[in-house]
Amino acid sequence: MTDKKDLVKRESESIFQTYGRQDVLLVKGSGAHVWDCEGREYLDFVAGIAVNSIGHCHPKLVETVSRQAAALIHTSNLYYTENQVLLAEELKGLTGMDRAYFCNSGAESIEAALKLVRRATGRAKIVAAERAFHGRTLGSLGLTHKAAYREPFRPLREAEFVPYNDSEAMKAAVTSETGAVFLEPVQGEAGVYVPDGDYLRTARDICDDQGALLILDEVQTGFGRTGRWFAKEHSGVVPDIICLAKAIAGGLPMGAMLARGSSSESFQKGDHGSTFAGGPLICAAALATIDVIREEKLVERSEELGRYLKSEIEKLNPREVRGLGLMVGLDLNCDCKSLVEKALQKGVLINNTGEHTLRLIPPLVVTKEEIDRVVEVIGELL
Ligand SMILES: *Cc1c(COP(=O)(O)O)cnc(C)c1O
Repeated sequence: MTDKKDLVKRESESIFQTYGRQDVLLVKGSGAHVWDCEGREYLDFVAGIAVNSIGHCHPKLVETVSRQAAALIHTSNLYYTENQVLLAEELKGLTGMDRAYFCNSGAESIEAALKLVRRATGRAKIVAAERAFHGRTLGSLGLTHKAAYREPFRPLREAEFVPYNDSEAMKAAVTSETGAVFLEPVQGEAGVYVPDGDYLRTARDICDDQGALLILDEVQTGFGRTGRWFAKEHSGVVPDIICLAKAIAGGLPMGAMLARGSSSESFQKGDHGSTFAGGPLICAAALATIDVIREEKLVERSEELGRYLKSEIEKLNPREVRGLGLMVGLDLNCDCKSLVEKALQKGVLINNTGEHTLRLIPPLVVTKEEIDRVVEVIGELL
């Protein structure tokens, strides 16, 4: 058995201390559950931060990855591989976009979008929202609002930030020099903020008036998380570019940037690239993940169980509950960091996005009983 105390010490001596970690050493997972090195079981309402949507170690994903690993793992984009094309076609169908560019993370999908905006419009100015999270690399960090993340790394190419869900502010900020507006259709890292029904549609109109592109960052909201395949479907808005990652490949690292219309023709050979992107193994994983979401009706499940989770949470009388599908945020008067630690002791993994905010983003395969258990534990701790 792995000695956790010893491993924690070695971690602190060997790995950059950029993460605040919970005091648990995880060794295996299945469905909505994970186990630690001492055999203790936990209900996982973090799901790798909205990544493990089909649950941990889904048999279909394990089987597909094993089979593909035995056939071909990596070749480079110097050659054709079939899975990459199959996945691009699948994503085109699901998103309504025209072309895909593959990468390896959410931040990279934002980087690709930033370069495409420059190519497509020739404009350098970007508008993004207050509280927005778009990633931590130097380009994407310029669109991430939190000062603590951004300020130590200046100079950056920073967006002009406008309050989220405020169409007037957006209108005032977007001009004929604006290349693009980047928005999360539901703000995730901020603590799950859902905009009013017409906010994204108005953003679309504002962009059209000024010749700017509208980019929806669906890295967290994609693949059924909000009770639709993509959160954009709630408003019917058609973006020019959509950024994907997190749940896309069932837990393996992948990102994708898809574009529509003339933007989808703007990149030329040599304009962008990545060694690992869109390899046969990762694309097989994504295709299997999408199959599972479809076969097990996880999008519908997310909508239905999300409604149930939200209504059960409301019974705890929090300061506020927000959410769409199985993406739920709640504000509490207590110290949420210590609540998260106490929940861990009771066998429940949850995540706080702020001092007074919890975020619940379980695997979409979660059951009603599992939701009841987590709500019960939070209730006890309150
Ligand atoms: C997580 C996240 C990112 C960054 O993704 P990484 O894979 O961590 O780089 C970008 N945008 C949104 C909305 C996210 O939730």
